[in-house]
Amino acid sequence: MKADSRFSEMVFKVDEADQHAFKKMHVRYREELVTLRLEKDIDPLKTTGNYLSPAEFYQAMQDPQTIVIDARNDYEYNLGHFRGAIKPEITNFRELPDWIKENRDQFEGKKILTYCTGGIRCEKFSGWLVNEGFDNVSQLHGGIVTYGKDPDVQGKLWDGQCYVFDERISVPVNQTEHVIVGKDHFTGEPCERYVNCGNPECNKKILCSEENEHTFLRGCTHECRVHERNRYVVEHGLSAKDVQERLEQVKKVQIPS
Ligand SMILES: [Zn+2]
Repeated sequence: MKADSRFSEMVFKVDEADQHAFKKMHVRYREELVTLRLEKDIDPLKTTGNYLSPAEFYQAMQDPQTIVIDARNDYEYNLGHFRGAIKPEITNFRELPDWIKENRDQFEGKKILTYCTGGIRCEKFSGWLVNEGFDNVSQLHGGIVTYGKDPDVQGKLWDGQCYVFDERISVPVNQTEHVIVGKDHFTGEPCERYVNCGNPECNKKILCSEENEHTFLRGCTHECRVHERNRYVVEHGLSAKDVQERLEQVKKVQIPS
């Protein structure tokens, strides 16, 4: 690829895996790779936050005048994040600007650091922050994945795992310690296993143990458990009587305090 002049300057992020991480490969042209749906679009080549290397980011994070904003979605944050990072309550990247505006007081006058999986969303998001008038905005260059591979910082101050958008679902980041921050959707116990809710109309990503997946019929709510097209029920060929028995079991699950 590098031999082609059009790609010679491009940064390729190589991440080795033991198995195929993608079902198939598509190459498509996209007008806008990460969509914020802004009235006035941001060109990251002109306006973006300062780029920090993993070592610089590691240092900057520990400054008490600094706040760290996770630029990803809530389900990504829930599986793992930088220690002390702020979690925007959003399920889609384009909700992020409104969330910042509503919570602006928290960030006023602070040094702001942003990060995301591969550093792409941040190029846009940090540029948007600069345009909004925040004057000290920096971003993690290359994102969490690059940070985890850096031989000096070795993923330090990252807790949990990093959510990835391929078949692996999660990858480790911190090479020095493993603190689990994910919590089972049903019981709140430590958990790093994601499934999609069995109700195809819901499809919400929920963290849950294998045991709880069986007990709760992979449904995030009672409505999803008894949905007529619940995929768990279909896959396991459960009868109405089987489902009723599971629902009885659900009532007996002890929620640890
Ligand atoms: Zn659901």
